[in-house]
Amino acid sequence: MEEEKYRRLRERMVSTQIEARGITDERVLAAMRKVPRHLFVSEALRDQAYGDFPLPIGHQQTISQPYIVAEMTQALNLDKDDRVLEVGTGSGYQAAILAELAFRVYSIERIHPLLIRARKILDQLHYTNVVTKYSDGTWGWPEESPFDAIIVTAGAPDIPKPLLDQLEMGGRMVVPVGDSFSQSLVKVVRDREGIRKTNLGGCRFVKLIGDHGWPNE
Ligand code: SAM
Repeated sequence: MEEEKYRRLRERMVSTQIEARGITDERVLAAMRKVPRHLFVSEALRDQAYGDFPLPIGHQQTISQPYIVAEMTQALNLDKDDRVLEVGTGSGYQAAILAELAFRVYSIERIHPLLIRARKILDQLHYTNVVTKYSDGTWGWPEESPFDAIIVTAGAPDIPKPLLDQLEMGGRMVVPVGDSFSQSLVKVVRDREGIRKTNLGGCRFVKLIGDHGWPNE
């Protein structure tokens, strides 16, 4: 019964927040309909999990608004054979969405208790193609690079150089870049001519903290 209630809330979330704002990639829409977002937030917030807003996940961090998850995922143009790096595991929700669309997801988080909680729910849901690591993700994951796609889910002062270096030829990256109050969502594509950047619009994320991000104050 509960599951049916949440399935209906997910359907409504996809039609009113995501399709209505122009997300058209059927694979992204199917993943957003499938992944049980309510299990990635605390029990007290479950009934709000499909609302049109981010929610707190503890440690002053958030699970992003559903629309921004869909927008960033669509911008990555994922193929089922792709290997994807995520910086900022947070709740694990975005990693689960990526895992529905790609071959393997490498996700890094710098707050240990968040990573433990995310890992637990990803295991419960059998996302065996998500590999996680406790680290400063601004250094990327050199041993597993290069990546077909990279997603940074925290706001950076600039695109971290190690991440650019770990992007495969033909690879796509999305990263919020700006000051600590607001950022632009930047899409980066590496092709034979080099690096191409497109601004996808405004967004607001918590800070990317690390050696190639903001200092930890
Ligand atoms: N993708 C997440 C989800 O689906 O719930 C939301 C991420 S939340 C908006 C941003 C996350 O980035 C936080 O959990 C934060 O601790 C993490 N973060 C910030 N700087 C980081 C860094 N240098 N390396 C790894 N994670 C970082």
